[in-house]
Amino acid sequence: MIQIIENASLKKLNSFGMEVQAKYLAAVHSSVDILELLDTICQQNEKPSQTPLVLGGGSNILFTKNYDGWVIKNELKGIELIAEDDDHVYIKAGAGENWHHFVINAIAHNWAGVENLALIPGMVGASPMQNIGAYGVEIKDVFHCLEAVHIKEQRTQLFYKNDCAFGYRDSVFKQAYKNEFVITSVTYRLNKKPVFHTKYGAIEEALEKMQVQTLHIKAIADAVIHIRNSKLPDPSITGNAGSFFKNPTISKMAFMELQKQFPAIIGYPVGDDQIKLAAGWLIEAAGWKGFRRGDVGCHHAQALILVNLRNASGQDVYQLSEDIRASVEEKFAVQLEREVNII
Ligand SMILES: Cc1cc2nc3c(=O)[nH]c(=O)nc-3n(C[C@H](O)[C@H](O)[C@H](O)COP(=O)(O)OP(=O)(O)OC[C@H]3O[C@@H](n4cnc5c(N)ncnc54)[C@H](O)[C@@H]3O)c2cc1C
Repeated sequence: MIQIIENASLKKLNSFGMEVQAKYLAAVHSSVDILELLDTICQQNEKPSQTPLVLGGGSNILFTKNYDGWVIKNELKGIELIAEDDDHVYIKAGAGENWHHFVINAIAHNWAGVENLALIPGMVGASPMQNIGAYGVEIKDVFHCLEAVHIKEQRTQLFYKNDCAFGYRDSVFKQAYKNEFVITSVTYRLNKKPVFHTKYGAIEEALEKMQVQTLHIKAIADAVIHIRNSKLPDPSITGNAGSFFKNPTISKMAFMELQKQFPAIIGYPVGDDQIKLAAGWLIEAAGWKGFRRGDVGCHHAQALILVNLRNASGQDVYQLSEDIRASVEEKFAVQLEREVNII
């Protein structure tokens, strides 16, 4: 029997800590629960104005108002080895498994590939949504397939890597299939023989400080955890959703023009003719780092992170993001795109 709560508070279910309500909130623990719930929603006489919203850990969402619809809290559990060959294991995880728990479990079994993604908040089911990434690794590098239920048609569909249109913090589930599917499980292809990625960020420096003699995946995860703990605000203390904006990509030519005016500008080549700019640098250079307006602010150590310092509303955070976008566009003629899902 699925428990349904009417006018439910979502404050504890989103990492910004926004005090908003869902018209209906229901937690699902199995695919059978999902089909039963979708059936109930379908038969409901009085239809809410918003389509059902699937919620994982709420760490990539900004609620700007109450949700006049169904919020489906994904609680599907289980981590299972379903196949293996000489080089790989295929690990299927329930969409409601905590992502960091999944990473720790992989490391304990010596399955490599996700160690650089340690400590990313949220659930397994959201990992393909924006192709989560950190420290030189993205989920697409280890993704095998996922199972999802189509919300309107109530049928199950299998998606392989080529079906997902993975891009930088992007997938088909944020674009063409936005709000159409409930992801129920994800299967990852992890490596028996690790390929270490230590060049990105401050990993090498952290490994040196830890005096690691022989490199192994746990050491990399420990280094990543150390770096993340030292520079990112903990959402249980300060409401936030990690990077609020994506790093924008511009042409090499436009980058060279900007470099003349701003010699310290940070950019990395992507492909032959494109440069990815560090959005954090642009925001800081536009003067926003550490900015505070009432209870909303731009984090003092990482300008890319917008924070709810106490009781800010989603509208307050959204307005600050608008102001930052406008000022970055005015100063650099670069448009910032939000990474966080605005509801
Ligand atoms: C401190 C901090 C650091 C972060 N660092 C990183 C980082 O390094 N790299 C990175 O990529 N992200 C990062 N994030 C963002 C966030 O952790 C990830 O995007 C994460 O995958 C979101 O998971 P979630 O379960 O909380 O998703 P939610 O916020 O609950 O949902 C995100 C989106 O996915 C949809 N969704 C969620 N689950 C399902 C499902 N089962 N089926 C269908 N749709 C679903 C939701 O409807 C929503 O649109 C960070 C966030 C914080 C707070």
